[in-house]
Amino acid sequence: MDNWEKLCKRCGQCCFEKWIEGDGTILPTSIPCRFLDIVTRECKVYHKRFKVGEGCIKLTPEVVEVVQWLPADCAYVEQIRGNRR
Ligand code: SF4
Repeated sequence: MDNWEKLCKRCGQCCFEKWIEGDGTILPTSIPCRFLDIVTRECKVYHKRFKVGEGCIKLTPEVVEVVQWLPADCAYVEQIRGNRR
């Protein structure tokens, strides 16, 4: 695990389905990815998640910079926004 991955708080918030309102507002739902262990909040298939998890996106600094669906308290969002200040 590299330093970037170590930032993750393992909160699992990014692994729940999102609902997009007509005006573009993104709302989290209580529907988890089928590979999320909802007790530990860890991915059950972490090392092969991009092969088996439909739509699972690798969070790089470039991706974190543009996506709107990560929560404000995501460690990556905090890191990227903190670096911009
Ligand atoms: S929302 Fe951010 S901190 Fe939480 S599990 Fe996802 S990537 Fe990690």
